[in-house]
Amino acid sequence: MPAYSARMAPVHDVVIVGAGLLGLSAARALTAQGRDVVLLEQAAIGHDGAGSKGSCRIFRLGYPEPDYVSAAARTRGEWHELEAQAGRVILHPTPHLTFGPQLAEVHDAMRRAGAACELLSAAATAERFPGIRVDGPALLETESAVIAADQALAALAAASGPVQAGVRVTSVTDDGRRVTLGTTAGELTARVAVLTAGPWTAGLLGPALAVPLRPTLEQVAYLEPAAASQTASPGTPIFICYGDPSPYGLPVPGSDRYKIGVHHSGPVVNPDAQDESPDPGLVARLTEVASRYLPGYRPEPVATERCVYDNTPDEDFVVDRIGNVVLGCGTSGHGFKFGPLLGTWLATLACGGPELPPQRFRLGRLRTRP
Ligand SMILES: Cc1cc2nc3c(=O)[nH]c(=O)nc-3n(C[C@H](O)[C@H](O)[C@H](O)COP(=O)(O)OP(=O)(O)OC[C@H]3O[C@@H](n4cnc5c(N)ncnc54)[C@H](O)[C@@H]3O)c2cc1C
Repeated sequence: MPAYSARMAPVHDVVIVGAGLLGLSAARALTAQGRDVVLLEQAAIGHDGAGSKGSCRIFRLGYPEPDYVSAAARTRGEWHELEAQAGRVILHPTPHLTFGPQLAEVHDAMRRAGAACELLSAAATAERFPGIRVDGPALLETESAVIAADQALAALAAASGPVQAGVRVTSVTDDGRRVTLGTTAGELTARVAVLTAGPWTAGLLGPALAVPLRPTLEQVAYLEPAAASQTASPGTPIFICYGDPSPYGLPVPGSDRYKIGVHHSGPVVNPDAQDESPDPGLVARLTEVASRYLPGYRPEPVATERCVYDNTPDEDFVVDRIGNVVLGCGTSGHGFKFGPLLGTWLATLACGGPELPPQRFRLGRLRTRP
């Protein structure tokens, strides 16, 4: 139950700003603790300008650092719990191939974290996965999946309590005892505010909490199988050519389409002024990716989609608490797979709970020295 101040305005346990993947995941975890949670969203869940929009994302354990491998392995169990709770299929098990310049680092990190994987020669890769054209060896992981992102958001929303959609937070003030939020629907007060506003988070904070986020507008493309193709979906695995740049691809659940992208290839953007129209230079680049790696698909995209990345300088997330403000942002284009675990960490920071986030996600690491 909310407490009441002298003016009888309710003081909520927690107000969450932003109902994307992180805000919904935090709301679900806090609701499960029995907290009084208000969840505010400036638009609607999964809207066109949100980083969590769209049909699918990659779930993989393959990272060049064991911390991330272990965190992904843990989150897999949490996704399964959400599937059971919601009665929806969220993870579509799909083999994943990592290759390219950082293959050895990813292999080493997976071994150190005790994650199942198998190093395949180029010949074995070609024989087992004719849908992907790989020049050298590849690392096969089998605990990977395609995340049905829209199903994930729906499942989280169902477990999160009501969302107040169309309400934009315009200011956040922490007086040391509680947080006051100015919104387009009036003022709210809470013991703790959780800011999960993606690339908008930086604009909500004063200079004392400066978060150096650098949003970029990425572009993905959808391919269809070539006529009479023997190698296209449903057998095509997920892939990442891990390096700089990192082209990637994944089959779209329930469809014969295949989605491709190049990690961190889009221009810097103001998140309030995203232009959804396709960028011809990025379309040409994606057509090259299709020609190079996907022999079973027509290389010309049948559709494209723009989507915003919320980048930190080191691509690690920000999951931290400063005073009575909890921050969950900076997911840098790779946060979806960790959704429920990020929710658990944010809930713990807000109200206590089973597990604090790792130190590497603290804001202090990004503070510039005077
Ligand atoms: C093209 C693309 C491909 C990706 N592929 C993968 C992948 O394969 N695997 C993976 O793990 N991750 C992937 N990601 C990353 C993943 O999708 C994001 O990390 C994640 O969805 C970010 O969620 P979020 O909740 O932080 O942000 P968002 O979804 O952007 O949510 C923030 C919400 O806050 C709301 N908001 C903002 N300001 C306010 C305000 N002032 N008041 C009220 N509401 C506000 C916004 O409207 C928005 O809905 C990809 C991202 C993109 C764009």
